Amino acid sequence: MKAEIIAVGNEIVYGHTVNTNASYIAQSIQELGIIPQCMVAVCDEESAIQEAVRMAMQRADVIFITGGLGPTPDDLTKEAVCHLLGEELVMLPEELEKLKTYFRRLNREMVTINEKQAAFPKKAKVLPNHCGTAPGCLFEVDGHTIILLPGPPKEMKAMFIEYVLPYLRQKVDQVFRSLDIHCFGIGESELASRIKPLLGTYEWGSVATYVGNYEVIVRIVVYGKTEDGVNQQIANIKDKIEKCLEDFVIGYNNEKLEENIVKRLIEKGYSISTVESCTGGLVAATLINCGGVSSCFNEGVVTYSNEAKMRYADVKEETLQRVGAVSEETAREMAEGIRRRAKTQIGLSTTGIAGPGGGTVEKPVGLVYIGISLPEGTEVYKLQLSGTRQEIREKTVKNILFKLYKKLK
Ligand code: ATP
Ligand code: MG
Repeated sequence: MKAEIIAVGNEIVYGHTVNTNASYIAQSIQELGIIPQCMVAVCDEESAIQEAVRMAMQRADVIFITGGLGPTPDDLTKEAVCHLLGEELVMLPEELEKLKTYFRRLNREMVTINEKQAAFPKKAKVLPNHCGTAPGCLFEVDGHTIILLPGPPKEMKAMFIEYVLPYLRQKVDQVFRSLDIHCFGIGESELASRIKPLLGTYEWGSVATYVGNYEVIVRIVVYGKTEDGVNQQIANIKDKIEKCLEDFVIGYNNEKLEENIVKRLIEKGYSISTVESCTGGLVAATLINCGGVSSCFNEGVVTYSNEAKMRYADVKEETLQRVGAVSEETAREMAEGIRRRAKTQIGLSTTGIAGPGGGTVEKPVGLVYIGISLPEGTEVYKLQLSGTRQEIREKTVKNILFKLYKKLK
C-alpha cells in the first residue's frame, strides 16, 4: 500500500515551520508496511490543495493531509477536498454541540467562524480532537483513503495514534519490521563497500545506508506474512552485516552510545570519572543524560587552564612546560590523575584545540588528545578533527565514548 502526505500551510512553504508532521506520519506508517511515496507542502489556497490531492490520487492509496482545519478563512482543506471530489460538506449538530461545550468549559464565547469546524464530508468518519478544537476526519473514495488531520503537531499526533493507526492496521495484512544499525568510526563509502552485496531493494524489503549525526546508519527493512518470518529475516541480515562491520557497531534503533556504555559500566560494576579541557564538561553531561548513571559516575571536572590541570588532575608543571596542554602526555596525566583522585576504575580525559583560533603549524585547530585510564593501563589517542568549534567538541565526545565502548565490549 502506498501513501502520500500533503502538508497545507503558507508557513511551511515559506520555511517558517518545519514540516515535522510529514516525517512523523511517514515514519509511523512504515511500521504497518505502508510505503510513503511523496511528501508535498502547499499554500493555503484551494487550487493548490486540489492540485496536490489530484496528483496524490494518481500515486497513492492513502492520502494524508495535515493543516487547514481551523476556523479562520485561510483554513480551507475540507472545502477544497470536498469541491474536488464532489463530496457534500454537511454541518453535524453533535459536533457543533461538542464545540460549544468546549468553549463553555473554557468560559469563552464561541464565535460564528468556529462553526465551520463542525462541518464534514457527508461520508466521513469524524476523528475527535482531544487536544484542540479542530476534529479530523477520514473517508474512502474511489479506492483511496483520504485522511484529514489538524496542523498543530501535538493534536495531529494524538489523533493519529488514537484513531488513524487502528483504522489503517485493520486495512493492511502484512507485517513490517525495520532495524537501524548505528556505526561510528567508518565513512559511508567504506561501510557501503564492505556490505555492497547486501545493499539494495528486494521483494522482501531493503538494505540501505544513511548518514546520521557523526554516524552511519544501516537500515534493514523487511515485509512479510508472519511476525516470525520477518523477525528471522531481520536476524539473518543483521548477522551478515555485523560480520562485515563488527568493530564499528555502536547500537541499534534509538539506543544511544552513552546509554549502552552506562549499561555496561553498571553490569561490570565499574565506576568512572572525567577531566575535560576542550569539551568543557560535554563528556560528563552526555553520560549524565542517561538514567541510572549515578551508580557508576563519580565526578567530572573541567580543567581549562594549566593551573586547573595541575590542581585537579595532578598534571606536572614540567610536562605542561615541556610539551604543552594539548599533548599525549598531558592527556595521559589528566586521565590517570582523575582516576586516582576520584578512586574510580576508569578515568577519561580530553585536551585539544577546538578553534577557531589558537592553532599553530605543529598543533592545528582540531588536534585533540583523548585519554582512557583503566586498571590495566592508560591509552591516549590522537585525533585530527574538522568542523566548527562546536562540531570539534561534539566529535571529541563521540570519539572518546566510542573508544571506551569498544574497551567495555
Ligand atoms: P488551527 O486550529 O490551529 O488553525 P489547523 O488544522 O488549521 O489548526 P494550521 O493552521 O494549518 O492548522 O496550523 C497550525 C499550526 O500548526 C501552524 O502554525 C504550525 O505551527 C503548526 N503546523 C501546521 N502544519 C504543520 C506541519 N506540517 N508540521 C509541523 N507543524 C505544523
Ligand atoms: Mg489554522
